[in-house]
Parts: sequence; C-alpha cells; structure tokens
Amino acid sequence: MTQVSIECVRGNIANQPDIDAIVNAANARLMPGSGVAGAIHAAAGPGLAEECRQLAPIEPGQAVISGGHDLPNACVIHCLGPVYGVDTPSEKLLADCYRNALELADRQGLSSIAFPAISTGVFGYPIEEAAKVAVSTIREVVPDLTSVRLIRLVLFSEGDLAVFRAMLASELPGT
Ligand code: ADP
Repeated sequence: MTQVSIECVRGNIANQPDIDAIVNAANARLMPGSGVAGAIHAAAGPGLAEECRQLAPIEPGQAVISGGHDLPNACVIHCLGPVYGVDTPSEKLLADCYRNALELADRQGLSSIAFPAISTGVFGYPIEEAAKVAVSTIREVVPDLTSVRLIRLVLFSEGDLAVFRAMLASELPGT
C-alpha cells in the first residue's frame, strides 16, 4: 500500500502553491466572505465567484469542486461546515466535509489537498473538538484513497497549529 502523508503547517490556505486542491470554508452561496473564503476569492480573482454561481447553494457537510482560476492550485473544493450547535449533529456534518472533500479529490485523480480548520472561525466550532473530528475522519478515509497522497492541514495561528499537531501525534484521536 502506498503511503499517504498527513501534515500540519501554520500558514495561509490561499498560499499553498505545491497543492492540487485547496479546500474553502465556504458559505452556502459560495460567495466571497470573511476569513478563508475571503482570502481564497481574493487570490483567485472574480472568475471563481462567477463559476461558483452555478454550483450554489450547498448544504452543511457538502463539498463541490471548481477550478482554481488565478490561484496556483488546479482546483478549489468548497465545503460548507456546520454552524456549531445550530446545524446539527455538528460533529457528523463536520466529518462529512472532510470525507466528502477527500473523496471528491480522489475521484478527480488529484494527489494533494490542503484543508483549513473548517467551521472554527465565524461558525464557532471549538478548535479542540474540530481537530479531533478532522484528524479522526481523515484517518478513517485514508485507507480508501487511491490517488490522494498528501493531506495538509493549514492552521492560521500558532495556538491552532499546536492543537492540531497534538491531535495528529495522538494514536487514538477518536477517544
Ligand atoms: P468558518 O465560517 O467555516 O468558521 P472561517 O473562514 O471563519 O470559516 O474560519 C475557519 C478557520 O480558518 C479559523 O480558524 C480561521 O482562523 C482560519 N483562517 C482564516 N483565514 C485563513 C487563511 N487565509 N488561511 C488559513 N486559515 C484561515
């Protein structure tokens, strides 16, 4: 079995030039917004919002794919994370985002994908709980991947990076 690497870095999701697909923590309308969506749309240019118009709206947990436009990446995978405690069950919906994005990238024959910490900004998901869902879901899906070989988690702050690093280093993230 070929190895799949899972790594955590501190950085900007819109500046991951060596990655095939970056994941957008999108809003339902797939329009530019604050945080991750703002950074991705600003770097991709207006063509991204134009293409996204036909793909919207999406539901919590869903993932859809577009081109990368002016980004260095071939594709953007847009996921709508749950608003914590409002879109329920939040844990399942957040896990669906990671699973659906990975499966979509794999079906497209992509070899690398980068995720931000979906739902942990304006959607209010506590970072520890979000890290647990992200890492455990990624670990569940990895054995089924045939094309994706690198999964990168891109955290915006040193504190968030430390939380994700610790979760990745733990042997049983689901417990
Ligand atoms: P959501 O609406 O899903 O909560 P946000 O974009 O508000 O999404 O935030 C998700 C997470 O991404 C937060 O932890 C935030 O600090 C972080 N973040 C914001 N901008 C960026 C960026 N440019 N690159 C990577 N992470 C970012």
